[in-house]
Amino acid sequence: MKKTIITLDGHSGCGKSTLAKLLAKELNFLYIDTGAMYRAISLFFLESKQILKNGKLNSDFKNTLDSVNIDFSKPNENGESWVRLNGEIVEDKIRNIEISNLVSEISKNALVRNKMVLIQQSYSAISNLIMDGRDIGSVVFPDADIKFWVTASAEKRAYRRWLEYKQKGKNISIQQVTQNINFRDENDQNRKVSPLIKPINSIIIDSTDMNIEQTFNFALTHIQNYLKK
Ligand code: C5P
Repeated sequence: MKKTIITLDGHSGCGKSTLAKLLAKELNFLYIDTGAMYRAISLFFLESKQILKNGKLNSDFKNTLDSVNIDFSKPNENGESWVRLNGEIVEDKIRNIEISNLVSEISKNALVRNKMVLIQQSYSAISNLIMDGRDIGSVVFPDADIKFWVTASAEKRAYRRWLEYKQKGKNISIQQVTQNINFRDENDQNRKVSPLIKPINSIIIDSTDMNIEQTFNFALTHIQNYLKK
């Protein structure tokens, strides 16, 4: 039977992952966080010393790319699953400013992206899906059943990311977070391969002045109306 695919794309810190997780839990769909996949492969290159001093990949990275395995752990009773790098859950290792500063450089690379996109597409064979990222409704699943474009002001996004770090006990200034968000927005929107764009026919959710419950209700109503048809 054909699986239902729902995509959420948008800038860093717009709240798409939080929303995607809630929707996946409510609908009992598999949730795939593609940002975590790009973070995990960035960690791999960092740990295997394939990053040069200027933050770029060295020319040998192609030889190891085939051997890198990125997947997700089995969902727990809350529907949560964590990204794995060569079998190891790396969730804690990928949520820091070092990886955040590196990931948009790594995700510019066409070979890295091709590998990630194939893995992402393979999940549509096994389950109904909610997938979030930067190119999901435009490149990975352009024919998805429902596509959302999630957005919020840059100030609000930086504040939310800063709060997330703070709640995890990570001491980082709002200026550092703002700088990183601006840097990644710039890179993600202007890269040559699969730049961040609003996917055709996507539904806009502007979460600047909406709380998570409001965005959730808005998105869920759309999905339920679609599923009724
Ligand atoms: O979603 P998150 O902020 O964790 O994503 C980290 C980075 O991964 C983004 O800034 C972007 O450079 C990259 N990314 C991407 N394509 C995706 C998901 C994430 O290029 N589908």
